This record gives sequence, structure tokens and C-alpha cells, in this order.
Amino acid sequence: MSDCIFCNIVAGQIPCTRVFEDNACLVFMDINPISPGHTLLITKKHYEAISQMPAGEAAHLGRHLPALARAVQAAVGAPALNVLQNNGRAAGQAVAHLHIHFIPRWPDDGLGFRWPAKPADFEVLARQAEAIRAELVTA
Ligand code: AMP
Ligand code: ZN
Repeated sequence: MSDCIFCNIVAGQIPCTRVFEDNACLVFMDINPISPGHTLLITKKHYEAISQMPAGEAAHLGRHLPALARAVQAAVGAPALNVLQNNGRAAGQAVAHLHIHFIPRWPDDGLGFRWPAKPADFEVLARQAEAIRAELVTA
């Protein structure tokens, strides 16, 4: 058995409530849902973070996003949806195997992020954009 819980689910060593799978990904219900219909999309291969994924595999996952979003929302009659992907403990990642959350949302459902927005300094934004451009290597 792997010490990664999601690798064990992929291998069939740990059960899951399966929704869909293909050669590269698996979709199943979150075992501790934060809202009704909370669903997870994972890669079958073990990647810890999105930054480690080959672009082709990310594209494969991405192709499923619209249909899964529609299906999850329709199945539970949710008017809204968060698609969330945590990378690293500081970002709230508890399971170190890449996964994307589909979290159905309703008005006043009590969920939400702390989002302490404040107006930006445009010189800082320009410096940050330049730093990101300098690091960016696209496939
Ligand atoms: P994250 O905090 O982004 O790493 O989210 C991990 C998610 O995996 C949480 O929402 C957990 O409830 C969910 N989870 C952990 N173990 C299982 C499992 N065996 N089956 C289904 N979902 C799980
Ligand atoms: Zn894994």
C-alpha cells in the first residue's frame, strides 16, 4: 500500500464513491463534504501540486471541468459553484495528491474565504507582473 490515500483509492485499495473515471483521472465524492455534492477530481498519477503537472495532463483534466461543473451543480440543484485547488499546507492542502474540488454553493450557505481585498499600488503590481513574466515558461 502507498502512503498516499488518493493513490490507494486509484489502486482500489481504499474504497471511494466513484462518479467517473478515464485512463488519467478519477472523480469521486468527498468523504467529508463541506456542501452537498462536494466532489473531487484527481489525477491517477501522483503529483503533489499543480506546478508539477505536465501541461498535457493539465489539459486533459481541464477538458473535463465544464461538464463536471454542469453535472455537479445540476445534480444537487446548486445555483453556484466553487472550483478550488489547494497547493501546499499553507494553502489548505491536507492530501498531498493533486485534486480539484467542486463545491456547490447556495446563497447564505455560510461558506466562503477570508478575502481581505485592498486597493493595489500600481507600481507594485507592475513589478510583480514583470517578475511573473520573467519566470513564465509556457509549454
Ligand atoms: P485538501 O484540503 O484540498 O487537501 O482536500 C482534501 C479533501 O480530501 C478533503 O475535502 C477531504 O474531505 C477529502 N478526503 C480525504 N480522504 C478522503 C477519502 N478517503 N475519500 C474521499 N475524500 C477524501
Ligand atoms: Zn498519490
